[in-house]
Amino acid sequence: MAKRPTLPGDDAELEFETLAVHAGVEPEPITGAVMTPVFFSSTYAQEDVAVHKGYEYSRTDNPTRTALHDSVAALEGGRFALAFASGMAATDVLLRRLSPGDHVICGNDVYGGTFRLFDKILRRHGIDFSFIDTTRTAEVAEAIKPTTRLIWLETPTNPLLKLTDIAAVADLTKDRGIHLAVDNTFASPALQQPLKLGADIVVHSSTKYLGGHSDVVGGIVVTDDQELYEDMKFIQNSAGAVPGPMDCFLTLRGIKTLAIRMAATCRNAERIARFLEEHVEVAEVIYPGLPGHPHHELARRQMKAGGGIISFILKGGVEAARAVATGTRLFTLAESLGGVESLIEVPAVMTHASVADSSLAVDPGLVRLSVGIENAEDLEADLQRAMAMAKSAPAPVAALAQ
Ligand SMILES: *Cc1c(COP(=O)(O)O)cnc(C)c1O
Repeated sequence: MAKRPTLPGDDAELEFETLAVHAGVEPEPITGAVMTPVFFSSTYAQEDVAVHKGYEYSRTDNPTRTALHDSVAALEGGRFALAFASGMAATDVLLRRLSPGDHVICGNDVYGGTFRLFDKILRRHGIDFSFIDTTRTAEVAEAIKPTTRLIWLETPTNPLLKLTDIAAVADLTKDRGIHLAVDNTFASPALQQPLKLGADIVVHSSTKYLGGHSDVVGGIVVTDDQELYEDMKFIQNSAGAVPGPMDCFLTLRGIKTLAIRMAATCRNAERIARFLEEHVEVAEVIYPGLPGHPHHELARRQMKAGGGIISFILKGGVEAARAVATGTRLFTLAESLGGVESLIEVPAVMTHASVADSSLAVDPGLVRLSVGIENAEDLEADLQRAMAMAKSAPAPVAALAQ
């Protein structure tokens, strides 16, 4: 395992688990409070006209937010981070650096909200997009134009868990004035650190694994490039999509357990993926940690473990998928992912219903799990029972259609 960056002002190289607990978090100087206080103040007293302690107004900077920035920057191995009101707000600010006529290459399998922002909103402002299969590096190389300024990758993708070779795509961007941004939400820095693989920018929906408790919406961008950072900071301060201090505190608190949550989640997911592989009602299991996954070798190179998301296709199609998703007790039927609790959903009629008629449409029998940190045997038994029930008594579709 590569050594991690150091804490500010500390010579020792610290490992990820240690950084998750300590990076960015110093005892508060006045009271000694060990946990970062939630600074609700919107404004800060100045010692003299335009003389202040680094904080003037909380849209621009807030001390609780600064601690969150320092924490996530250390975890991703970059010098600069910026927190936002949501993952989409983070993506929006990064894209607003571009000008009409600039070209962006984007995966054709990215988060639906990202596709919507690019295709429905940013196109109106003259940004040119190519949506391609980034899992094939040659296709990325072919899509590059003289006007290309940004390549946007998501790896692993949702819900098909396809992987793109970050280092290979980074090689294509070098010395060409193209920035490489990676949405690292699904892996989290505990499993994958794109900056170390040559990416310029990492983007997170911290709503998912970073926060980890499904109780706060947020986004974060990390980079090692000072010019990029300063430009994004300027846009954020001008446009205003900042997170509140309580949101920053909750995210910071979640991050302290990121390493152990991810370890427990991956352990559970590996076991459940193997269980599903053996199940007679399952046609296919999609999980990067399984040797049969088409990008398993890349997963082993690029990620520390297979992650917490499993997709599987039931032989019984959408009826069976609905029956299983409504039949579990521990896996809650809900969208989103990355929390301590296990969730189950049917992408074709839930998260991916809006792309049902496009090339992004997913198999109607596909079920997506976000595996939590509960006991693995309990989770397996829950799925086992729901699948047995689904087989014996298919649920009436009308009753489940909301
Ligand atoms: C949830 C998600 C987003 C959007 O983040 P929000 O915090 O919901 O705005 C972006 N990318 C991925 C991969 C996501 O899962």
